Amino acid sequence: MHYNAVLMKNYVPVLDIPALYKSFNEPVTREDCGTMCSLHNPAGKPFCCDICQAVPVAYRQEWDYLASHSDMWHEWRGDECAREPVDPKYLQSETPEHLKLLACRGPVHCSRNFRAISCRQFPFFPYVTSDDRFIGLAYYWDYEPVCWVISHLDRVTPDFRREFVATFDGIFNMWPDEFESYAVLSEEAREFFNGKRRRFPVLHRNGGFYLVSPGSERMEKKPVEKINRFGPYKGQNLPINGNFTDTY
Ligand code: SF4
Ligand code: SF4
Repeated sequence: MHYNAVLMKNYVPVLDIPALYKSFNEPVTREDCGTMCSLHNPAGKPFCCDICQAVPVAYRQEWDYLASHSDMWHEWRGDECAREPVDPKYLQSETPEHLKLLACRGPVHCSRNFRAISCRQFPFFPYVTSDDRFIGLAYYWDYEPVCWVISHLDRVTPDFRREFVATFDGIFNMWPDEFESYAVLSEEAREFFNGKRRRFPVLHRNGGFYLVSPGSERMEKKPVEKINRFGPYKGQNLPINGNFTDTY
């Protein structure tokens, strides 16, 4: 799908947050992936729900909704990670204007209905090719060593993938700037993997799994069970022929 990122520049749409939440509610996997990864986090929390590991974001329109409908969130102050308090100004200055840095009350008090879109999509972001096509899901590469889902892409359900694609198709159709921000992130992903001389997986909107060569963007379809595993998950349920070596 191609989106015109020039028209409607700086336009910020009204988002129907309850409708978005209703239509993007599928868990990423049938397993509770938080119980899998939290075993490897000394804090005992899922990595993506540990404020010392990740600061959640929400669209500003989403924050308006969350602030008035739930007491689960507050604006990030920078002191929520007790062992590593930081001055929030730096991260705020690095965060795009349309996003708000938040902190929640933690996984014990998490209410599924009030999870932000960034929680629902994690560990994935919409992957956009250099010729402006949103073709599927790529993952936030920083979390390769810790996220169980990234090492078990075969567990990502078709329903989650379908809802993810439909959600971002809808958002991008209304909001070209948001499409553009993911195009930039996708470019950063290609630069990162190019530096590592590694191909990276894309869960394609057509249902297939592909490895993308970051320089040429050539794509090769692969059986999902041959996608790499990382960190503590390396030895888990290895395919019969061992791990796939994704150099190029
Ligand atoms: S998405 Fe990844 S980091 Fe977050 S809870 Fe699941 S396995 Fe853990
Ligand atoms: S709202 Fe829930 S899913 Fe999102 S970061 Fe907090 S605990 Fe995790």
